[in-house]
Amino acid sequence: TDTIGRTFAATAAKYPDVAALIDAAVDRTWTWTELRRDVLALAAGMMRHGVQPGDRVGLWAPNRFEWVLTQFAAAEIGAILVVINPSYRRHELAYALKQSGTSLVLSAERFRDSEYAVMLNDVRDQTPDLREVVLFESDAFTEMLAEPSADELATIADIAAGLKAEDPINIQYTSGTTGSPKGVTLTHLNIGNNGYMVGALLDYTEADRICLPVPFYHCFGMVMGNLASISLGAAMVIPGPAFDPKATLAAVEKYRCTSLYGVPTMFIAELALLDAGSEFDLSSLRTGIMAGSPCPEQVMRRVIDEMNMSQVSICYGMTETSPVSTQTRMDDAMDLRVATVGRVCPHLEIKIADPITGETLPYGETGEFRTRGYSVMKGYWNDPEKTADAIDGDGWMRTGDLGVMSDDGYVRITGRIKDMVIRGGENIYPREIEEFLYTHPDIVDAQVIGVPDEKYGEELMAWVRVKDGAEITADAIREFATGHISRHKIPKYVHVVDEFPMTVTGKVRKVEMREKSIEFLG
Ligand code: ATP
Ligand code: MG
Repeated sequence: TDTIGRTFAATAAKYPDVAALIDAAVDRTWTWTELRRDVLALAAGMMRHGVQPGDRVGLWAPNRFEWVLTQFAAAEIGAILVVINPSYRRHELAYALKQSGTSLVLSAERFRDSEYAVMLNDVRDQTPDLREVVLFESDAFTEMLAEPSADELATIADIAAGLKAEDPINIQYTSGTTGSPKGVTLTHLNIGNNGYMVGALLDYTEADRICLPVPFYHCFGMVMGNLASISLGAAMVIPGPAFDPKATLAAVEKYRCTSLYGVPTMFIAELALLDAGSEFDLSSLRTGIMAGSPCPEQVMRRVIDEMNMSQVSICYGMTETSPVSTQTRMDDAMDLRVATVGRVCPHLEIKIADPITGETLPYGETGEFRTRGYSVMKGYWNDPEKTADAIDGDGWMRTGDLGVMSDDGYVRITGRIKDMVIRGGENIYPREIEEFLYTHPDIVDAQVIGVPDEKYGEELMAWVRVKDGAEITADAIREFATGHISRHKIPKYVHVVDEFPMTVTGKVRKVEMREKSIEFLG
């Protein structure tokens, strides 16, 4: 594909009067013409604030329409957008801004209890490259959106014409599920093409409307959502600044969305709302994506049956690969659609490798999932060492995920290498036990970890969320599991919780669960 700016321009020219962006918070709709106009205006505004191609522009805000304008304005003039996690606090914020050498930040004044303006001010002495902060609520931002002059538009067109698809356009910090976030540098080709490919497999056209409760700062929202949208003409619908199941389903109903995205926990929350008797008209839905962490089969089946999403797809990927590497297709057999992450995406290669030697393993054997092709990041920003650790000499990205491939190419992700539990010398994949626990009628959500054990090295512990009013004990689980899964896979400890520690992208932080478990086991 082409640069993000040229792809966007082509789509806007093709569907001038079709809805491109809808923000439920302000109940406003932009057509492609209007979106293009506002994006070019903001691009000119950025140039008036001194932004040059290659400069890093920070974006720190929850999902709102200004986020989308900023994403495409920066891309138009070749500025590298540094997308910052809305839940960051001073320490992480300062790290990201400094590490990336960001010179201008666009942000919101505050979101809930987060005083973004105050925190940005507090880190100024640690971020020498940061020249300016512009808040969306400020006059300065309104002024940036003013109608650009003919000269300014000509300059933008010149810059845009000189950009290449291989230029870096984005720095995204990983979710931080397993440690500290890494600054992934991605090009127009990496993410523009990935957004297009994902959308094409879902058959998106300008008649589609994608409901996006997933955070934009992460590739799930900004690539699989926004970039799929601009390459195929489907509208982006923002149900609200942060995930709320009710607001999400209400936006699907009100704006007649055809597609809905979410990490598994989001769909679980939406289904719980339906279970509790809330009613929404979901008849407009046909497709969507579940991704980001292991997608429980039961949840997939319910989404298909109860949310009218017969064409929902599972994607698997990581920030470092733009993100998507495998995807289920609408015509896959049902059992494969709900229980695998699908097959390799077009123009990419995948393999299951021995994690140490990198050698390709036979079908059916568990090993490390690796990806090669256009989607592999340029590298970690300013960190050649970590980059060399992540991408091998032949260009294969090491994902750190464990998977199995069937002889017809379907992949199952069995967990992260770091999450694998070794109990008495036996490798146990928590995912398998979680899937089993989901079949218990009282269990709403289950997460399994390994905790240190003197005798076996590690023992299994399940954290479970149960239905309202239900109770569950380790004994009850043992009884339920006996005869159905091997003895050594039955969790020794069961801990009932109201919620799991999560990243903002909606991933369970097993690292934190492990720390807490060790604490309360004494
Ligand atoms: P960090 O790298 O900072 O620890 P992270 O790996 O969670 O965080 P992301 O790049 O957001 O950061 O997430 C990619 C990871 O998410 C994958 O490596 C994989 O473990 C998990 N993942 C994504 N999609 C799926 C899926 N469909 N099924 C199972 N796991 C998935
Ligand atoms: Mg990762």
